[in-house]
Amino acid sequence: MPTRDRVYLDHAATTAVRPVALAALAEAAALGANPASLHASGRRAKLALEQARERVAAALGAHPSEVVLTSGGTEADNLAVQGLYRARRAGDPGRTRIMLTGVEHHAVLDAVAWLAEHEDAEPVLVPVDAEGVVDPAAWEAALAEAPERTALATLMWANNEVGAVQPVTEAARLAAAHDVPLHTDAVQAVGAVEVDFAASGAATLALSGHKVGAPVGVGALLVRRDATLEPVVHGGGQERRLRSGTVSVALAAALAAALEEAVAEREAEAARLGALRDEVIAAVDALDGVHLTGPRDVDPATGEPLPSGTRRLPGNVHVTVPGRTADALLFGFDMAGFDTSSGSACTAGVAEPSHVVLALPGRTEADARATQRLALGRTTTDVDVARLLAALPQVLGGPMRKERTA
Ligand code: PLP
Repeated sequence: MPTRDRVYLDHAATTAVRPVALAALAEAAALGANPASLHASGRRAKLALEQARERVAAALGAHPSEVVLTSGGTEADNLAVQGLYRARRAGDPGRTRIMLTGVEHHAVLDAVAWLAEHEDAEPVLVPVDAEGVVDPAAWEAALAEAPERTALATLMWANNEVGAVQPVTEAARLAAAHDVPLHTDAVQAVGAVEVDFAASGAATLALSGHKVGAPVGVGALLVRRDATLEPVVHGGGQERRLRSGTVSVALAAALAAALEEAVAEREAEAARLGALRDEVIAAVDALDGVHLTGPRDVDPATGEPLPSGTRRLPGNVHVTVPGRTADALLFGFDMAGFDTSSGSACTAGVAEPSHVVLALPGRTEADARATQRLALGRTTTDVDVARLLAALPQVLGGPMRKERTA
């Protein structure tokens, strides 16, 4: 993890484990029994597990029976997409359409692509606007086209690259009116913006522990009680038969502790990080040839400021620097002491153009290769941001001027 001479600006990739999560992990790990065992020690482990489940549910506006523990966000997304698709098709083989946007995470995109390749799914891509936000009218039109052939719709709550917050509640309401269940990937939203599962109207919601200060290796899929899913993993029938395998009480307890703290701090953190983010955005705006990607927390009609996290994740800054490559930008930040990310997926160490930027109208492949994400988070301080502001002109501007004259 980051040392004190470094400024860690990759909180969207993962964030430091919270002390409360570590303490909960250690305490629950010491229980040493399988929560499915019927003896007294097993019952004690089961009690700890169910208490953790209740805390996860309470933090997110869900019922405890709706919490299906998984290994993380990717597994939760796969269970939702594959599980909903297969269950819907089992009832009606003609339901093959899956609605999604091009800015979804690979955990969703690739699950849908796999179903298209192997199980006759027809992906229906709903366009997003130049800021990466889906248009409810386009969403509604795609739904209305063939609702009786649509298995599910999936729309992420907030985008991991460009920080766009999506109108999930509106999308779920429109989908429900056509009898289409909505899955939402809320991995980046949980702990950053207000997430209430019941109020959202989503059928399923994916979250990941290591984005909120639990260790890597735990997450959950919230599954509404009336939603029907086929399991992906088969076995002992744990987790409502949706995710077989012995449940880690220790990781569940760590998830509950981290999530509870993240949600309790959320409003204050959103305001603090939003203010720091906006200082960075103002500095980016002042640089020649550097563009912010994604929405701003201002009312698009009036230009009036909106509360942090309304349209953009509070800690997210994402820039495009035409003429530079993501690798070169990352290297420049790295040499200056900042841990940043190209923001897009890295396959076998090779940076690919960002599929998120490519999905934005008007953006080119060159733009999609010239990106950098600065993700502020819980440990980010005013001093970190002051250091960043001092370094930005050199890292983003200096070498570019050199390249231009070369
Ligand atoms: N969905 C989104 C939006 C993400 O940002 C990530 C991780 O970066 C995932 C899914 C995958 O989560 P995990 O790393 O827990 O598998």
